[in-house]
Amino acid sequence: MIEAREVSKFYGAFQALKNVSFSVRDGEKVVIIGPSGSGKSTILRSINRLETIDRGTIIVDGMDVSDPKVDICKVREEIGMVFQSFNLFPHKTVLENLTLAQTVVRKRNRREAEQIALELLKKVGIAEKAAAYPAKLSGGQQQRVAIARSLAMNPKAILFDEPTSALDPEMIGEVLDVMKNLAQEGMTMVVVTHEMGFAREVADRVIFMDHGQIVEEGTPEHFFTSP
Ligand code: ADP
Ligand code: ADP
Repeated sequence: MIEAREVSKFYGAFQALKNVSFSVRDGEKVVIIGPSGSGKSTILRSINRLETIDRGTIIVDGMDVSDPKVDICKVREEIGMVFQSFNLFPHKTVLENLTLAQTVVRKRNRREAEQIALELLKKVGIAEKAAAYPAKLSGGQQQRVAIARSLAMNPKAILFDEPTSALDPEMIGEVLDVMKNLAQEGMTMVVVTHEMGFAREVADRVIFMDHGQIVEEGTPEHFFTSP
């Protein structure tokens, strides 16, 4: 589903990624961990070209993201992304946040889009907030809306960039629970997180990054079981 080969990325003279290679199979859950500044967000953002890479190749569902001619809209339709900071449209209701891309990008009619949106809001446990504006929701609720919005596009995979890092501690669990459910349903997921419990419980594979490189890769047992 996703394959990165020998990816390097520079910000000016600073090399943020150094020959990073990994792949994610269909249905696999990969968790990326590592210290702040190690390049986790950069590699994730490179997958749907929120960042461009300087060397190497990234293939997403057969499309070469590193090729300037690739249809990047199509890549982003297939690969959802959930950010630390929710990124909801503040002047649209929760329901409108979920229907906008469905009608514009997926060309669904409003009725169908609303029906799908309501189903997804139910799934993430906030159907009662459909008519509210994002500012009226807690951080945990906003992040669940962001996940539902991403699901509304029927993505083949979802990238999560520290989805719980901006949340108050008491809201982290509700967001992780939604993500665990998705994992159980077989969604392909790449998750950058500091939540080691989540990594241990959900990951098929854990990637540890440091200074722009993958320094270790293995099963959660490999990482979290003491010898
Ligand atoms: P992580 O997600 O592991 O915290 P990032 O991928 O966000 O790390 O950043 C990796 C390194 O690249 C950091 O040292 C960061 O300061 C630097 N960096 C990230 N984005 C930029 C940018 N737009 N310009 C310059 N340096 C950047
Ligand atoms: P997050 O952890 O949500 O990725 P960051 O604080 O790492 O947020 O980065 C926020 C934005 O600032 C990103 O677009 C990133 O590329 C940019 N950025 C991060 N580090 C630097 C840096 N050293 N110089 C310039 N821009 C940076």
